Amino acid sequence: MTGHRLLIIDDEPSIGAVIARVATSVGYQTLVVENADDFLEKVRTWAPTHIVMDLQMPVVDGLQLLSQLASDHCTANIILVSGVGDSVVNAARRVGTARGLNVTAALAKPFSAAELAGVLKSNRMEDPWLTVASFSEAMNREEFYLLYQPKVDLKTGVVSGAEALVRWRHPMRGVIAPLEFIPFAESSACIDRMTQWIGTTACGQMQTWDAAGCRISLAINVSARNLHEPRLADQLASQCRVAGIEPSRLTLELTETAAMRDAVQMMDVLTRLRVKGFHLAIDDFGTGYSSLVQLHRLPFSEIKIDRTFVSGCTTSSESRSIVRLVIELAHALGMKAVAEGVETADALRMLRDMGCDEAQGSFIALPIEAGDIPAAVGQHTESTWYRTSGPWAPTLPKS
Ligand code: C2E
Ligand code: CA
Ligand code: CA
Repeated sequence: MTGHRLLIIDDEPSIGAVIARVATSVGYQTLVVENADDFLEKVRTWAPTHIVMDLQMPVVDGLQLLSQLASDHCTANIILVSGVGDSVVNAARRVGTARGLNVTAALAKPFSAAELAGVLKSNRMEDPWLTVASFSEAMNREEFYLLYQPKVDLKTGVVSGAEALVRWRHPMRGVIAPLEFIPFAESSACIDRMTQWIGTTACGQMQTWDAAGCRISLAINVSARNLHEPRLADQLASQCRVAGIEPSRLTLELTETAAMRDAVQMMDVLTRLRVKGFHLAIDDFGTGYSSLVQLHRLPFSEIKIDRTFVSGCTTSSESRSIVRLVIELAHALGMKAVAEGVETADALRMLRDMGCDEAQGSFIALPIEAGDIPAAVGQHTESTWYRTSGPWAPTLPKS
């Protein structure tokens, strides 16, 4: 009758029975096991949709089981329970998620029947549309595609490049924006496959544009988690080679996160990318974890000023000061300054007057289909838009 099969593992039979009783009352089929061998066997043969797992067990602990489930590519929703306290159970939850499992809840013992029923109900109703399995399926079915947002060179008014931004054309949910699935992909190993696909697609697209006489540079977004993969630089270099694209035409935009601090491995990958000729941009600069120390220590070649400062720069003198200082800082360190989120002619003029190198945003163009890029580049190369848009146009240097 129900499609929800809950497998419970707890070394105390009485607790397992209580959990099963509560789960049955909210519509689950249940099965209780007491040891790891039975558990793993049932995971394979009974294919539970949900698992309740006690982290503390005598022979094999919950963390070992999580790692086994991850290597078996288990897609069930996992609810962790433990008597060792909130912080431990939450840490285990993060470990499980990082291994690509769907850990949907963590309950610290003792919990009431009502609490457990609440978690089980919300898990039952939760539409598990975003799982490692559904994501891989979507990749296989080629449901992802890239849009490209033009970037304009502020000294010439010419479109010199674009940023690739991913979208998911979901058969049931329509077009899904990256912020709805990239964090999930980053929390699992899915982001590696996604970034590989983006590299191949972006290089192939540049080759197509080149053949049409439209030669621009391209920026792609790379997650901090991608830097755990030591082969990233080689993979991207070989994707460029296959498409006949020089790595110097690609910029990798990276948002700094706490995870990047002090990681020698990441420094190694970033340096290798630079050695191979790729450009590296620090994205969303001014927010999150970016700091002057990081900027100095890591081999970035471009600073991308976050749109919160850019959009504020026409109305707030503080934002304006920040933008001016970031541009100066970039230049002092031999880097390029790029502004994102340019939404008005005033903002564009201000950025140009402050010496910003490139700009991107809805005032110039929204993210568009690959096929529309040559027209956008042609239009901006002729600078008709550049000369005629906005009150600032007459004072701009001719391209
Ligand atoms: P981001 O790298 O900061 O990308 C810029 C975002 O600002 C894009 O949203 C873009 O559509 C939006 N935008 C463009 N012009 C304007 C404007 O004038 N005003 C405002 N307010 N916004 C503007 P999008 O495409 O939804 O991407 C959101 C974020 O998702 C990106 O932020 C990036 O962090 C992530 N992302 C997108 N594509 C990829 C990807 O291929 N890989 C990875 N790892 N992350 C991606
Ligand atoms: Ca970006
Ligand atoms: Ca950004």
